[in-house]
Amino acid sequence: MTLTDAELDQLIEDIGLKRPDEDLEHGAIEHGTEKGALQHRHREERLCPRCRQAVRDAYDQRRYGRTGYLTEAEWQAQKGSRGDGGEKP
Ligand SMILES: [Zn+2]
Repeated sequence: MTLTDAELDQLIEDIGLKRPDEDLEHGAIEHGTEKGALQHRHREERLCPRCRQAVRDAYDQRRYGRTGYLTEAEWQAQKGSRGDGGEKP
């Protein structure tokens, strides 16, 4: 899955990342973290792949944590027991 910059912005909004503060302006970007993503945004740069991934991961975590999504194992188990998914083992 590839995010456009607009979608990425939306994710950043959705997961409630704070607006960059002064702290983000200085020092090296912490790539691969939410903070790194904010640092890119603050500098009006495109996010590097690692920081994009960090935003996606953060989004997934919050989303799944909030809505109680199934883990992969639980999903497989449920799919197997229902047997109506069209994907038979
Ligand atoms: Zn980065």
